Amino acid sequence: MRQRIAVVGSGPAGLAFARVLHRHDHPVTVLERDPAPDARPPGGTLDLHEGLGQLALDKAGLLTEFQALSRPEGQAMRILDTDGTVLRDWKPRPGDRANPEIDRRQLRDLLLGPLDVRWGQGVTQVVPGTRDGVLVHFADGRQETFDLVIGADGARSRVRPAVSPVTPHYTGVTFVETSLDDVDTRHPGLARLIGDGSLAVYGVNRALVAQRNSGGHVKVYAQFRAPQAWHTHLDLTDTEAVRSSLLALFDGWAAPVLDLLRHGTAFVNRPLHVLPVSHTWTHVPGVTLLGDAAHLMPPLGAGANLAMLEGAELAESIAMGPGPGPGDLDATVRAFEEKMWARACRWAKMTTAGLERLVSPDPAEALALFDQVQPS
Ligand SMILES: Cc1cc2nc3c(=O)[nH]c(=O)nc-3n(C[C@H](O)[C@H](O)[C@H](O)COP(=O)(O)OP(=O)(O)OC[C@H]3O[C@@H](n4cnc5c(N)ncnc54)[C@H](O)[C@@H]3O)c2cc1C
Repeated sequence: MRQRIAVVGSGPAGLAFARVLHRHDHPVTVLERDPAPDARPPGGTLDLHEGLGQLALDKAGLLTEFQALSRPEGQAMRILDTDGTVLRDWKPRPGDRANPEIDRRQLRDLLLGPLDVRWGQGVTQVVPGTRDGVLVHFADGRQETFDLVIGADGARSRVRPAVSPVTPHYTGVTFVETSLDDVDTRHPGLARLIGDGSLAVYGVNRALVAQRNSGGHVKVYAQFRAPQAWHTHLDLTDTEAVRSSLLALFDGWAAPVLDLLRHGTAFVNRPLHVLPVSHTWTHVPGVTLLGDAAHLMPPLGAGANLAMLEGAELAESIAMGPGPGPGDLDATVRAFEEKMWARACRWAKMTTAGLERLVSPDPAEALALFDQVQPS
């Protein structure tokens, strides 16, 4: 008999896991708290790396469809000084598909495809080791048992406590996100400034980053070092108050750069939290974690990529694993965890060091980091 497998969360990790199992005709239950796919705004664009997110899509049989949807030109990166001087203006070579961008909504729909997600199923707790397997508690009071429960439920995972007591901590850096719509028609000057991909401006302990999504939508991130309670004097729902506060924080920067804040719509406060760099746990039969639930790290272009690859790899190992017995499944999960921990630890170290350099007292550090990863 095939094992009863549930994945909690339909983010990049959970969907990649479910989609690869589906490709191998292996049943899987996807439990998602959101009541519907579009219940929340999907978030900004993602660059999917060749050996990570793109490899996961290949394992799901979706690489060709991804290539048709993605934006290789979105890899372009322009860096300005705070006075508006262009310091770097990098454009991908024709045919360069190392890290093309894709809107999160497009990626989600691509992965969702034929999957039958159970929407509106918030999980509150997972209890391993019961007589009938792993017990899942739902917000509406129901309970259900599975042989394997995968926690792909993100930063504030409700599955994580079943394997680890560790919780994320604040990095000292906050992002405040805003957006521009129809940038090419409504703000043509900003559209030219941003170009086809991303624009970044690095100052002392702060940065402004704008990223083009499809359809003329741009996400802007004001990034700064501050206590997590930096906003206690502010009503965060008061858009104009937040705008004034941010304009004061970036006072003296070039006017076209500040226009990114002046024209932004609503502002969303995103204090960055992370798990410890080498977060591991003593293996618990019947439960494991993927993606941010396992290794939340600074958002420097790796989190969704790792989440997807882990989902795809674990699903592939289960589908092609040695046998259908509970011991076989457990051995597969154990082996996967060792591999995931080692890789995630390398990326967590890199992204933690990267955040230190990008939002740093010395803006030259950010430029040096860019030159290291993107030599001309
Ligand atoms: C500003 C920003 C920019 C980023 N840019 C990039 C980038 O360019 N490239 C990149 O690779 N990564 C990027 N990341 C990181 C990336 O967003 C995450 O690493 C990635 O989304 C993790 O995927 P996940 O599936 O593990 O978790 P999530 O995407 O968080 O998905 C978790 C899912 O679980 C659901 N859920 C949560 N709790 C429950 C529950 N109790 N019961 C049921 N369902 C639940 C949620 O609704 C959600 O659907 C960025 C992050 C931020 C904040």
